[in-house]
Amino acid sequence: MNYTVTSKEITIGADDFIRRYRDAERIEAFCRECPSFGKMWCCPPFDFDPCTVSDGFKTVKLMGTIIEFDEATRTACKTPEQASATGREAMAQVWKKLLPRMYEMERTTPGSRCFMFRCSLCPEGCTRPVGNPCRHPGKMRHSLEAVGFDVIAMARDLLSVELEWSTDGSLTKHITIVTALFF
Ligand code: SF4
Repeated sequence: MNYTVTSKEITIGADDFIRRYRDAERIEAFCRECPSFGKMWCCPPFDFDPCTVSDGFKTVKLMGTIIEFDEATRTACKTPEQASATGREAMAQVWKKLLPRMYEMERTTPGSRCFMFRCSLCPEGCTRPVGNPCRHPGKMRHSLEAVGFDVIAMARDLLSVELEWSTDGSLTKHITIVTALFF
């Protein structure tokens, strides 16, 4: 598997960002279609107003981490299962490096909060399906979409990135991980 990783980022006022991209009711309707809906503590539905997670900040640093596969890697994926496994493996490799950088950014920016990719803190699986509390409530961070943000629109408008989904089971050319630091 061969891929390159590039990054894009932009800093924007939090009020403007929220006004343009937060629409919790509309976005939750998309989340309902996801297999993780109600199955992870980082995902909706919540027993609190998800907007409160992103309220009270002045500034947003939005980051796109773009994984671009080479042609040989894409053509080597002969089945949808292979394409899916390759995409997952690349994302896991990239996320393993990005996750500590996100926590470090948050640690060195007092009063900030980062918004992550899907929670990966428990390799043994989330406790929500068995009704137990989150194992790492102080460390778990939501994704932007989980708390009501339109990630497709913000990536397009602010990062000039079109998020790609495979419609035919092939490996997409790019996979983009969108994260943010609110501070
Ligand atoms: S930290 Fe573990 S228990 Fe909590 S949301 Fe993430 S996977 Fe679930």
